[in-house]
Amino acid sequence: MKTLIIDDSPDALAVAKARLAKENLDIVCAAGGQEGLATARRERPDLILLDLDMPDMSGFDVCRALKADAALCMIPVIFLTGSGSTADKVKGLDLGAVDYVTKPFDAVELKARVRAALRTKHLQDLLAKYAQVDPLTELWNRRALEERLRQEWARLQRYGGALALLMADLDHFKAVNDTYGHPAGDQVLRDTAAILVSQCRESDLPARYGGEEFVVVLPTHCAQDAAALAERCRRKIETARVQASGAEIHVTASFGVADSIGLSTPEDLIRAADEALYLAKSDGRNCVRPASAPVPAAS
Ligand code: GH3
Ligand code: MG
Ligand code: MG
Repeated sequence: MKTLIIDDSPDALAVAKARLAKENLDIVCAAGGQEGLATARRERPDLILLDLDMPDMSGFDVCRALKADAALCMIPVIFLTGSGSTADKVKGLDLGAVDYVTKPFDAVELKARVRAALRTKHLQDLLAKYAQVDPLTELWNRRALEERLRQEWARLQRYGGALALLMADLDHFKAVNDTYGHPAGDQVLRDTAAILVSQCRESDLPARYGGEEFVVVLPTHCAQDAAALAERCRRKIETARVQASGAEIHVTASFGVADSIGLSTPEDLIRAADEALYLAKSDGRNCVRPASAPVPAAS
């Protein structure tokens, strides 16, 4: 894991680096507060060892800046303090540091504290991942999708352009579970997710929206592009044969597509795609339908 050491003293940097040499860490160094912050932004380390006493910016101020930055606030910080003063230790911990080590370093203690902080960071990363990823299909889950959609919408309002969304729902999926069993249904969901991913571009965001419902967000695209993607996925799903429970299972899916043009909120976009999906279902399933054009607001 990557560890950033921020200390203005070249000797202290060299000592800390030497003490941690056998810990199998990827170590990056910065020789001051400002440089440390810039390095943290660039390198996104898993742990920061932060000297308190630096001429350009105190360790407390660096810690404050780290904790105020949404992209960096989850990186654990261990203070390196020369003073051993209780007030400094308390202040550092209250600012959000996870631990402190007193100089001169005791090698065994430094390594143990670094290992402990990295263990916690690893668990925290796992939790953050599980909060965003659907365990069955490994696609983004609904929470992550809605968050990303909000971010894309904010970008749209700042810079203009369009955003498209595709919503898919497997046809008569309940019958698959009833006929072949729930584990076979799960395999159909995994294979369907893999087909969606295989047809998406790098910038598209495929997600599992609910039970057998999927959403793909297409940043900087319009409904026509989403319809083309949906049609490719529809054909792949229609021709695929899912191997599960000793059977070859055939499924189809219905798709609704919409784009942000003329709409005011991300919820409107989801609603428009959902309504288009409803049309696809009522038109006989296994087809793609666009949203009807939004009614212009009365002026
Ligand atoms: P329609 O064509 O109208 O969409 O019909 P449908 O049968 O697909 O829709 P319905 O909403 O009646 O049924 C959805 C089914 O999806 C019921 C539910 O048990 C199943 N399902 C939801 N989540 C999972 C899952 O994680 N695994 C499995 N195997 N089945 C699931
Ligand atoms: Mg369904
Ligand atoms: Mg459904």
